[in-house]
Parts: sequence; C-alpha cells; structure tokens
Amino acid sequence: MVKKFGDNTVLDDLNFDVRRGERVTLIGPSGSGKTTILRLVMTLEHLTGGYIYVDGEPLTHLEVNGRRVERRPKDIARSTQKIGMVFQQFNLFPNMSVLENITEAPVHVLGRSSEEARTRGLELLDMVGLADKAEEHPTRLSGGQQQRVAIARALAMDPEILLLDEVTSALDPELVGEVLGVLRDIAKSTDITMLIVTHEMQFAQDVSHRVLMFDGGKIVEEASPDVMFTSPTHERTRSFLQAVL
Ligand code: ADP
Repeated sequence: MVKKFGDNTVLDDLNFDVRRGERVTLIGPSGSGKTTILRLVMTLEHLTGGYIYVDGEPLTHLEVNGRRVERRPKDIARSTQKIGMVFQQFNLFPNMSVLENITEAPVHVLGRSSEEARTRGLELLDMVGLADKAEEHPTRLSGGQQQRVAIARALAMDPEILLLDEVTSALDPELVGEVLGVLRDIAKSTDITMLIVTHEMQFAQDVSHRVLMFDGGKIVEEASPDVMFTSPTHERTRSFLQAVL
C-alpha cells in the first residue's frame, strides 16, 4: 500500500499480512506511520495506491482489467463492519448514556432489536467492569472508565478485527492499568484479530504474537515479542527500545 499526504509519502509500498486471530503490535518512533496504517484499515484515510485485503476481499480498491478501481461505498461498508477501532481520545457520544453509546450501532447499523442490543451491551459492560455505569453519562466517568466503554462499544459490533490506536496515551498513569487489564482479558478470552499501536511495551510483549518495528513508513524489523524486546537485530530497533524502555 501507498499513502501520501500531499507530497509527503508516509507509506511507500508497504506490504504485510496479519493472519486471522493473530495479534500484531506496531512499534516505532512518532511519525513513522503506525496510526496512518490503522486509519487506512478503518477507511478513515484514503489509500493513495495499492490495496488492502480483509478476509481475502479488497477493502477500498480492487483491480479490474489491470486498473485500480474504487469499490462502491456500500461494498466498502460491508467490509468495514468487520472492523472495530478504539481511539486515543475515547470519542464517546457525550449526549448518550453509556449503554446507549454501546447499543447505537448494533441497532442502527446491524439492525438488532433494542432488547437484544441492551442485553449484549450489559454483558459487555460487565466484562469491562462497568455494569453499574450503564445509565451514567460518559462525561461523569474517569478517562479509564470512558476508554473501557469505548472498548465495549467496539466489541458490540462483533468485529473480526480490532484496531487499538494508542488507547492509553491520553490517560493519567494510574488509569492505564485498568484499560490494559481489560484488553489482556479480551486477548485471552477471544480470537479477535488485533492490530495494536502502543507505547506500552510490557503490554505489547504480553499480548502480541508478532511485533513490527516501523521507521519512516517501513518495517525495519519483524519478530516475536520475546525476540523483539530482548534481542532485536537492528540498531534502529535497539536505540528505539533503549529510549522507551
Ligand atoms: P505514528 O503513528 O507512527 O506517530 P502517523 O501515522 O501519525 O505516525 O504519521 C505519519 C506521518 O504522516 C507523519 O509525518 C505525519 O505528520 C503525517 N500525517 C499523519 N496524518 C496526517 C494528516 N491528516 N495530514 C497530513 N499529514 C499527516
């Protein structure tokens, strides 16, 4: 895939696969293109060149007679339904209750009954430890609680792929643990494919099957977490990890 912002080529002919059920963490210095990759997969950014495949299907563009053609919006929407994303800034709807935040998309996008969406929403709130906050307004919750609601909201759409974009970066340090704890549980108890951008290296080591080190929009090293965090091969990875660990 290729992504440019104006003249700035952020991702130049980047190519990588994530297998079903795999949890892959992207690490690397600020500005290396990690968030852009997640936003491209979520179709929040327009792909300049190349293709992204989800479940073997082209996401936004396909090749027809050797030409690159954009897919129809409703076909793209069908693919993006398989993908959930949690952002650094929780992005909850402030005018809805916690439970309404979670049931909104299942009802309006998936066409579930409000009863079914409520039941599932309460189950998910229980899973993230916030069953007692269902009727609360998000603004009355701590950042850690809001982020746990955002995680429940993403899961309410039954995604096959979950994108986590620096989900603890906006939190006070004492609130990071509760969010990572919930994500660890989800990683352990589900087979959702995860693509993770994080600066929490211990978390990355614990939950990832594979770690990709980025620099300047390219993968400079790819390894299992055990190898990446203890004996990386590349000098660039070593200096990056030394700076952040
Ligand atoms: P990372 O997540 O690794 O910190 P990003 O994907 O956020 O990196 O950014 C990669 C590059 O793309 C940076 O040079 C950044 O300035 C640029 N970039 C990201 N988003 C935009 C945008 N909306 N407009 C212009 N440039 C952008």
